[in-house]
Amino acid sequence: MRLVVLGGGESGVGTAILGKKQGYEVFVSDFGKIKQSYKDVLTKYEIPWEEEQHTEELILNATVVMKSPGIPDKAPIVKKLVEKGISVISEIEFTAPFTKAITIGITGSNGKTTTTMLTYHLLKSAGLNVALGGNIGKSFAWQVAEYDYDVYVLELSSFQLDGIINYKPHIAILTNISPDHLDRYEYKYENYIASKFRITMNQTESDFLIYDADDEATQEWLKYNTTKAQLIPFSISQTLDLGAFFKDNNMEVKMNQEEFSMETEYIALEGKHNMKNAMAATSVAKLMQIRNATIRESLSNFQGVEHRLEKVLKIQNVQYINDSKATNVNATYFALDSMNVPTVWIVGGVDKGNDYNELMSLVREKVKAIICLGIDNSKIIAAFGNVVDDLIEVNTMNDAVRMAQRYTEKGDAVLLSPACASFDLFENYEDRGRQFKQAVYNL
Ligand code: ADP
Repeated sequence: MRLVVLGGGESGVGTAILGKKQGYEVFVSDFGKIKQSYKDVLTKYEIPWEEEQHTEELILNATVVMKSPGIPDKAPIVKKLVEKGISVISEIEFTAPFTKAITIGITGSNGKTTTTMLTYHLLKSAGLNVALGGNIGKSFAWQVAEYDYDVYVLELSSFQLDGIINYKPHIAILTNISPDHLDRYEYKYENYIASKFRITMNQTESDFLIYDADDEATQEWLKYNTTKAQLIPFSISQTLDLGAFFKDNNMEVKMNQEEFSMETEYIALEGKHNMKNAMAATSVAKLMQIRNATIRESLSNFQGVEHRLEKVLKIQNVQYINDSKATNVNATYFALDSMNVPTVWIVGGVDKGNDYNELMSLVREKVKAIICLGIDNSKIIAAFGNVVDDLIEVNTMNDAVRMAQRYTEKGDAVLLSPACASFDLFENYEDRGRQFKQAVYNL
């Protein structure tokens, strides 16, 4: 059995180690460079590898190929493998058969990381032997290879889901769906939606699908398609007989025999979107039969995740907020929606086909000035130039923050929520968020 791993990153190296331990002959091939620390690990496990090339003779003889999520289906080597009828799968698909653990798979366009971290926090605080995996931290494969846990909370991108054949999570969460990554889906929204719903395609009657009942694309899909999983909806706009919803000032979760209720003011996360994330994570906790007192405590002390509506500092009574992870309009919508003071908004970057009209009424209501931080700001200027009193363009994060400060008065906020990818001026969204925080500290 020959396992070829395409991509020598976290996911690839983890899969290689697991494959080796399971008796596969393993080869790792990366078209780019492999990090030195990963090379050291591969050498330690006596796994051969190559970088900056794909040697076809060493790849096209595979029994099975694990493709890292960053490699698109249209990569020539992937096309050749598919033409030869060789199975190309994702890390999750390869790994799942080697563990008896319960897996909780979390996907969606926005809110995956927050919901994954919160779910993990809820289960961990309850004393379960639980690990994080998927797109976060150490790879699922690596953990299964080295020390297996009872439960895994896995953040699953649509690329991970594209590479599954038999994998099914015991509990799936689909946070929401809005257009994203369409370049990888032939620019067809329906392909992207179908990819997200792969999370439930192998689920059976004993499994669960937790989903946003307010989400249009999700509702549409459920109208015309079926899943065998038990459906657990959540909603912030309607009360439900089953699932999670608001009633008076409480978040309520109703499962068959079980009920949970908590006043929202004690939930540490802020913003409507985060209430949804809390509803989804709490539904998992109830399905896993965690005690209400433990859930309550965990929801009240979970402080959120870096770069997601992260409160940085208050300077002269102005709150600076880092939402660098908002790389699409939908994420920024919820960020602006959660603002309850006049806001100077730092926006811009690489536009992914954004429709800014969705933000129009929120901008009118909440934004006092716009700072455009991108190489091409034309769409933002066209959308909001006549809507706010002040709109300026800058080229560096330091200038953005300094100019933002000029437009503030006591009690205002400065929000970095770009609605765009970061690759024009920054390495990635983390780099953008860190530069923002540094610029704020510099003030
Ligand atoms: P993902 O891992 O899916 O990218 P994150 O939790 O990292 O999700 O959040 C990404 C961005 O989306 C952040 O700006 C965050 O504030 C916003 N966000 C988080 N949860 C939601 C949600 N349920 N709906 C819409 N936006 C959200």
